[in-house]
Amino acid sequence: MRFFIAALLCNLLWMPAAGLAEAEIVTPKMRQTAEKLAATALQDTTAYDLVESLTTEIGPRLAGTEAEARARDWAVKKLKQLGFKNVRIEPFEVPLWQRGVEKAEITSPFPQPLYITTLGGSVATPPEGVEGDLVSFPSLAALQAVRAGSLRGKIVFVDQVMTRTQDGSGYGVAVQKRRETAFAAHKAGAVGALIRSVGTSSHRFAHTGQMKAITDTSVGPSVPSAALSAPDADQLARALSRDEPLRLRLTLTPQTQARAPSGNVIAEIPGRERPDEIVLIGAHLDSWDQGTGAVDDGAGVGIVTGAAKVIMDNLRRAPKRTIRVVYFGAEEVGLVGAKAYAEAHSRELENHIVGTESDFGADKIWRFDTRIAEAKLPVAKAIGDVLLPLGIGPGNNEASGGPDMKYVREAGVPVVTLLQNGWDYFDLHHTPNDTLDKIDPAKLAQNVAAYAAFVYLVAEMDEDFRE
Ligand SMILES: [Zn+2]
Repeated sequence: MRFFIAALLCNLLWMPAAGLAEAEIVTPKMRQTAEKLAATALQDTTAYDLVESLTTEIGPRLAGTEAEARARDWAVKKLKQLGFKNVRIEPFEVPLWQRGVEKAEITSPFPQPLYITTLGGSVATPPEGVEGDLVSFPSLAALQAVRAGSLRGKIVFVDQVMTRTQDGSGYGVAVQKRRETAFAAHKAGAVGALIRSVGTSSHRFAHTGQMKAITDTSVGPSVPSAALSAPDADQLARALSRDEPLRLRLTLTPQTQARAPSGNVIAEIPGRERPDEIVLIGAHLDSWDQGTGAVDDGAGVGIVTGAAKVIMDNLRRAPKRTIRVVYFGAEEVGLVGAKAYAEAHSRELENHIVGTESDFGADKIWRFDTRIAEAKLPVAKAIGDVLLPLGIGPGNNEASGGPDMKYVREAGVPVVTLLQNGWDYFDLHHTPNDTLDKIDPAKLAQNVAAYAAFVYLVAEMDEDFRE
């Protein structure tokens, strides 16, 4: 019901503006072509084949590792084989962080092991670990409110639950805990930190993820920190309720290397009339190290490439504008590839018509969000009408465009989000359970269909999304 009302409101927002008739923005012929491309995409297996290949032949591909480098080579080969033009790697460097031993155990009063995973960017404990009394906080804010130095020798535990939502909005709130706890714990004088995983699953996998961006040089000192699986966080909470001091030993031995190679992989379908105008569609090539990065973000790699491939293979001639596919490197450790792209292409960003990234799993798209000039909302409405038969309704004008669109968006590039159903996404996110079997080929194909229709329309139309 709430969606219905939201849809109604958005329809009001999308009332045609004077001077822009919908049939002039998307002509009946263009609409027909978009529908045909979508129908073809629903039967096309390129996207699934790519994510199957990437997750099988490369597997986990943490930023800066040799595996991420192999993934770039894999990408160049695949993109050339598929027939894309201007296939290239734009290299950059990134610090390389790799996990080592990760162990947590209650040492008293009920000795037992706990399931944890080190948070990306964490500093190490001594090899024998650190031991201290555990102090629990219901939220990051509660930890941040304690007096500096008042938790000397303790291990802190931030036991904040993430809310499950369809649009992923619970993540934005919960992720602050992952980013900030280790720094707040250090200020308080603690020797280690644990958080309840940023995730929504009840399985016994802990969810990893980056603390502050690995390239952020402004961060202060921090303590070794890890995430507990949800059942282990529950277990700790119960153990703490027994009114006896609870001691815990934490051993984490990650290592960091100052510089390692990473890079973005780029491929294009050059536009036939205005090749300097770019429709940017992205996904990220790196993944966390524990799963095989199927849902995050092998699926996105498959979706954007599959959509571009359907357009390339089923039109007599290329669309007017250039379609640029970008596989961003080093997304997970702090959007390093996104920044490198925005810097390397700063002079052509004014020619980027729109940008979008698929990085929210492989479930169906249900909503079309934009962040474009108000005056151009009728253009979004004209496109949105073509997406309706795919089960995609109108959304808001506050789209992020996806994580790797951050810097181009901030530089003024209009963005859209073809928003996937994220209800289950954070059950798998950043765990060893992010594997190929979680991808439903039919749902993936619906994504490809939506991208194919959207990308074709924007690349073929004469309108843009700026004032
Ligand atoms: Zn991702």
